Amino acid sequence: MPTLRREFKADELVFREGDPPTSAYLIESGAVEVSSTQAGEKLVLAVLGAGDLFGEMALIDLAPRTATARAVRDTVAMEIGPDQIQERLANADPIIRALLRSQLSRYRSALTKFLGPNGDGSQRDVVEHGDRGDDGAAINKIRLEAELKEALRQRALEIRYQPIYDLRQERIAGYEALIRWTHAQRGAVSPAEFIPVAEETSLIVPIGTYVLEEVSSLLGQLAREKVDPVPVIAVNVSGRQLEEGDIVTELTEIATRYKVPRGSIKVEVTESLTLDVPRVSDLIARCHAADILVALDDFGTGYSNLGQLHNLHFDTVKLDHGLVWQMLDDPRCLAIVRAIVAMVHALGADLVAEGVETGAQLAALRDMGCRYAQGYLIGRPAGREALLESHLAAKAR
Ligand code: C2E
Ligand code: CA
Ligand code: CA
Repeated sequence: MPTLRREFKADELVFREGDPPTSAYLIESGAVEVSSTQAGEKLVLAVLGAGDLFGEMALIDLAPRTATARAVRDTVAMEIGPDQIQERLANADPIIRALLRSQLSRYRSALTKFLGPNGDGSQRDVVEHGDRGDDGAAINKIRLEAELKEALRQRALEIRYQPIYDLRQERIAGYEALIRWTHAQRGAVSPAEFIPVAEETSLIVPIGTYVLEEVSSLLGQLAREKVDPVPVIAVNVSGRQLEEGDIVTELTEIATRYKVPRGSIKVEVTESLTLDVPRVSDLIARCHAADILVALDDFGTGYSNLGQLHNLHFDTVKLDHGLVWQMLDDPRCLAIVRAIVAMVHALGADLVAEGVETGAQLAALRDMGCRYAQGYLIGRPAGREALLESHLAAKAR
């Protein structure tokens, strides 16, 4: 297994001109000198420091190194794999990709011509460290992605379960699985920050598999412990996961392996996906054939494809927290929520109101006939042990 952080002693070689492209590096501490040999003379191209990226050029066109990199003093750098860069390139606009490659080839030939066999070795083009311009955000993203990859490898991602309350039966009916990342330096990183980064590359796919495995293992355990009924656990599935893999086959395989009771997994897809009606409709049909429930998440956030909702046989519609938070301050918003509750029930689906934080919100939802509620008032997302404990204690009573 490759290690993410590499340490180089002062004067240690990182790579040499002509070496095959293996990794790029993001300097965490120390300094690295990038140089090229012209007519037998060493020409320093750049001295880079913390926050600077080097060695990325060869990863863009997978050409041999055109420069030598050596640690100036003891240096720690994060290794960025070629897949991280190649995948983003593959996903980039083809025109941007072509422009980048042509710029790169021009740069390489200019480098040889300009410095030439008799290059004067002047420091004119030396890039001083810290001069990263607008690339800071991009570099942060690359760093976040590399760290996330490592967190996944070390199983440092954790799943929390937030209860969903059944107002009619007055009990917890199920949970939503929410991923958490505890970062060594930054503490808890919100999925709202790292899931979009993971979605930009196929890193979301192994993360999704990890969530499915964790949830299935928990459901298998609840069934073994004879908890009855086994709660339904909902997992969030992003568009890219649906595009890149066959989630239904994967989920069926994992659920069988962990002996998950049928019908106890629900997948949540976001509203924006429903714009592609045939695709979502096909997904729902295949999920139902495999006893997997399907929920429409974040309903009411702006993409509501109302004209097509009757064609999509969701088991559950989740009312976005934004509407829940506003409804008691604005009678017009309350009217919309009331209409959504009635419409969802008329379509034969369940409605879960999200983000319920106050007793007044819960009472209003109950009055409207809304059956399920989720939010801090009911419970915050909690770990696997807490969930197991509460169900085993309830069974013992
Ligand atoms: P979401 O699916 O809409 O999840 C609900 C979010 O609202 C969660 O945030 C939850 O902790 C938060 N929440 C629940 N009740 C309340 C409340 O009463 N008040 C407030 N203020 N917030 C509440 P979280 O866990 O930070 O997740 C954010 C988003 O990240 C999720 O939004 C979901 O889109 C995404 N996400 C989380 N886990 C996964 C995952 O395993 N896979 C994928 N693809 N996406 C995930
Ligand atoms: Ca969700
Ligand atoms: Ca939601």
